[in-house]
Amino acid sequence: MAVQARKTTTVTSTTTTTSTTVEKKIDAQVGKTWGRDRDVSFGTILISLGILVLSPIWVMYTYISCNGFDCAMSGPALEVYNNPDHLEALKALLIRELPRFSPYATRLWFTWLLFQAALYAFLPAAIGYGQRTPAGHILPYKVNGLLAWFISHAIYAVGGLYMGWWDLNIIQANWGGLLIAANMYGYFLTFFCYFKARFFPSHAADRKFSGSFIYDLLMGIEFNPRIGKYFDFKLFHNGRPGIVAWTMINLSFAAAQYQKIGYVTNSMILLNLLHATYVLDFFYNEDWYLRTIDIAHDHFGFYLAWGDSVWLPWLYTLQSHYLLRNPVDLTPLQFGLIFSVGYLGYFIFRSVNHQKDIVRSTNGECMIWGKPAKVIRTQFVTSDGKTHKSLLLCSGYWGLSRHFNYVGDLLISLAMCMTCGTKHLLPYFYIIYMTILLLHRIQRDHTRCKGKYGKYWEEYMRVVPYKLIPYVY
Ligand code: NDP
Repeated sequence: MAVQARKTTTVTSTTTTTSTTVEKKIDAQVGKTWGRDRDVSFGTILISLGILVLSPIWVMYTYISCNGFDCAMSGPALEVYNNPDHLEALKALLIRELPRFSPYATRLWFTWLLFQAALYAFLPAAIGYGQRTPAGHILPYKVNGLLAWFISHAIYAVGGLYMGWWDLNIIQANWGGLLIAANMYGYFLTFFCYFKARFFPSHAADRKFSGSFIYDLLMGIEFNPRIGKYFDFKLFHNGRPGIVAWTMINLSFAAAQYQKIGYVTNSMILLNLLHATYVLDFFYNEDWYLRTIDIAHDHFGFYLAWGDSVWLPWLYTLQSHYLLRNPVDLTPLQFGLIFSVGYLGYFIFRSVNHQKDIVRSTNGECMIWGKPAKVIRTQFVTSDGKTHKSLLLCSGYWGLSRHFNYVGDLLISLAMCMTCGTKHLLPYFYIIYMTILLLHRIQRDHTRCKGKYGKYWEEYMRVVPYKLIPYVY
């Protein structure tokens, strides 16, 4: 530990010798305001409008591609393009393929939502704590997702396999009606949270108003909308109706594949395995998730409210929709390769995130890769004027690049897509989306951390110059 202390001092003292002009400039940023942007440009508002309009259209487009064209992404576009009367063709396509409102699927979806809410509220839970918010709060969270996941899946399996309450393909069979129901809820939640933020916020000082209705609707105003002390909208909606459903949706599509072709392909099994590993990891480490950007930085608007209700369950599971229509039998070599890429990615993902968590929870007093952790000790100011301490790890994986955990995530995502072979682009949407999301997130995180840590972040960037891949980017 003595060595660790010496190393820490070395890095910190380097910080203090940074040029004074730079220091003054950066010091001024610390404490001014950090967290999500307040002032947004006209360009940002236009992009926000684009996301609000195009995201639901894209989800519908993928639904139509899978339902009517066996997941060929070009299918709907070509049908409209090849018809001389494009408008008439579009109308006919929409009438034929758009999902329909179904009272049964709507009941199913809302029962699911309420069931998850009851599990979240009433199951025994450990209490975890998030990062300090820009207004200085440290909020408690109920951590009981793993139990909720097991109970939900056990009921789904027992009800389908032994009790005859439903067919295991129930989700796949009602996919269109569920999509309508999830949209209804996603939009309701977005507007509800917009008005809640304005008129009865949970933590008024942690709201961010941008001055743009569109941006606020998309990115949210309230940081941690809650009902009571513990019912946290962000953790609940991302974790429960969204991520618990993820693995169940895949299982339902696997069941449908079995009914369609008489067996479940090894590609579908591998996909289920990879997704289940990712989801179970999330719940096993739910306490860690409280300190990730989703919880520690994002406000709750359309992006998370509609995103968790619709975008995540419909688009993150696209590969199983594809494999139902296009069964792929992997050769042992292909299976082995995809398995290795996926689990190498998972190993990196988990190890990197674990290093950050362990260094923060031990206040830097730990070993990383057999050596005392190298950290930069930082200070930051919250909007109540108080100064707090934190630290940035700059050895181990966190010495290789500032976001090496994203490399792991990208490898897992790639493996999930590779289970679908190479005939179509649509199942590769996930890796394309994750790449864009994570590259953009690197930029967002940089802006946030620079605002929060000022000169200490500059120092960290000097010690760890690469953003993602060492010597490349
Ligand atoms: P990180 O877990 O990397 O969190 C970034 C935050 O960690 C920063 O804002 C900062 O917050 C803190 N931090 C940054 N550098 C250091 C350091 N050197 N030492 C200690 N703390 C540091 O990012 P995300 O929250 O984006 O991602 C978490 C995981 O979730 C990743 O593995 C990612 O791939 C995955 N993910 C998955 C998604 C999906 O949809 N499947 C979507 C997004 C992410 P502070 O100092 O304020 O604590």
